[in-house]
Amino acid sequence: MDSRYERLAAWDKSYVWHPFTQMKDYNRTDPLIIERGEGIMLYDVQGRAYYDGFSSVWLNVHGHNVPELNRAIEEQLGKVAHSTLLGMANVPAVELAEKLVRIAPAGLTKVFYSDSGATGVEIAIKMAFQYWRNTGVPGRTKFITMNQAYHGDTIGAVSVGSIPLYHETFRPMLFSSYTVPYPHAYRHEGGAAGAMEETLSQLESLLRTSGDEIAALIVEPIVQGASGMIVMPPGCLRRMAGLCREYGVLLIADEVATGFGRTGAMFACQLEDVSPDLMVVGKGLTGGYLPVAATLASDLVYNAFYADYEEQKTFFHGHSFTGNPLGCAVAIASLRLMEERGIVEAVDGKAALTAGRLAQLADRPHVGDIRQQGLMAGIELVRDKAAKTPYEWSERIGVRVCMRARELGMLTRPLGNVVVFIPPLVSSDAELAAMLDILAEAIIDVTEEGWGA
Ligand code: PMP
Repeated sequence: MDSRYERLAAWDKSYVWHPFTQMKDYNRTDPLIIERGEGIMLYDVQGRAYYDGFSSVWLNVHGHNVPELNRAIEEQLGKVAHSTLLGMANVPAVELAEKLVRIAPAGLTKVFYSDSGATGVEIAIKMAFQYWRNTGVPGRTKFITMNQAYHGDTIGAVSVGSIPLYHETFRPMLFSSYTVPYPHAYRHEGGAAGAMEETLSQLESLLRTSGDEIAALIVEPIVQGASGMIVMPPGCLRRMAGLCREYGVLLIADEVATGFGRTGAMFACQLEDVSPDLMVVGKGLTGGYLPVAATLASDLVYNAFYADYEEQKTFFHGHSFTGNPLGCAVAIASLRLMEERGIVEAVDGKAALTAGRLAQLADRPHVGDIRQQGLMAGIELVRDKAAKTPYEWSERIGVRVCMRARELGMLTRPLGNVVVFIPPLVSSDAELAAMLDILAEAIIDVTEEGWGA
C-alpha cells in the first residue's frame, strides 16, 4: 500500500462520517477512494479501474469527465459561478427552465429549482399543502404515499417515506401519511394482476373514505427504486392517476431516480401518458454532474399562488443555491447531448441486451426475482427459491455480492438482498456485457460458493 493511500484512508476514517453507513463496519475495511473518472470507468487513488455499475448512485448519464459537460461548466465559470433567483434571474436557469418545460409531460409549465431530490420533494409537498389553503380548502392536509416508498432524507420527505429501516427512528418527529401498497408481483398470491388490483382498490377505498383530507398522492412512477427496484404492472400508474383526478387529489410524481431516460422514456410518467400536477427531478438532470433538482408544476398549481401580495398566497420557500448557474449550464449541455446522441431512444436496445443477459441468471438456485425497466434493474437473491425465503439480514448477502463485484472490477450498491444494476445510459453493448459478466460471477461466487461468508 502506498503512503498516500494510507494517509487518505486514515483521514477518511478519522474525519468523514459517511451517509447510510455504520461507521464501525466501514472503519474495519480498506476504504475505496476515488480519484478520477473517464467514460463509464472510475479510478481509485491506487490506479485501480472499476466500471461504474450504479451510475454513482443512479445519476450518471454520459459517463465521467465528458468534454462537452466540462466545457459547459468552464464557460459558465468564466461568467459567474453563482448569483440568486431571489427577485432576479440568471441566464442558464432561465434557459434550462424553458428546455425542461418542453420535454416534460404535457401540462407541467413552471420550474422551481432546488439542490437535491429530497429538497425537490419538500417543495412538492409544501406546494401541494399550500395549494389547498390558497384555494380555500384548508382541510386537505394529508398525503398518500406507497408502502416502502423512498423520497429522500429531509423531514418532509421522510414523512412521506415508508421504509421502516430508514424511517422508523424518526416517526415521532414526522407528520403522518396514509399508505397504500406499491404493486409488487413477486410474493403476491395474485401475481402482477392481483398486486395491481389490490393497490387500486386500496387507493380507491382510501380516497372514498378520506378523500376530503387528502392533499396529494406521491409516487415513484413505474419503478419504486430504493425499496428494491419494484416495477409496476403496465397500466397501473395510469389508473392511479385517473383515481386522483376522479377524487380531486393532486398527483406528485417523484422522478428523481426514473427521470432523464433511465426507464426508456425521458420521464417514466410518459410511458403511460400520465401528466402529474407536480413532478420532482434531480439526479440525472445535470447528467449526474452537479447538485441541481427541480420541482415542475402545472398551471393549476401555479395559478393558485398567483395573486396580489396582500392575499398572502406567496410560496415562501427557497435555497441559497437555487438555480445555480454552473449546475443549470451543465444541465443544459447534458440535455443537448442527450438529444444530439439519441440517448433516450437507445435505452430500449441496451435494456433488451441487459434483459437477455440477466435472464441467463434466472435458473441459478438463489436468484429469486429479476426486475427491470429500461436501464434500471434489481436482482433479488433468496435463501430458498421455491419458498421465496429471504436471506437473513445478518448474512449481508447483497453487501457481499457488491464487495465481490468490486473485487472483480465493478462498483454497485445493494438494497438489502437486492443487487442493483443501473449503468450509465451511454454504456456500450460491450461495456454492458462486461459489467453483466462481473455481476453474474459475483452472484454465483457469493450465493453458490460462499464467498465472503
Ligand atoms: N426520490 C427518489 C425516488 C430517490 O430515489 C431519491 C434518491 N435515491 C431521492 C428522492 C432523494 O434524492 P437526493 O438523494 O438527491 O436527496
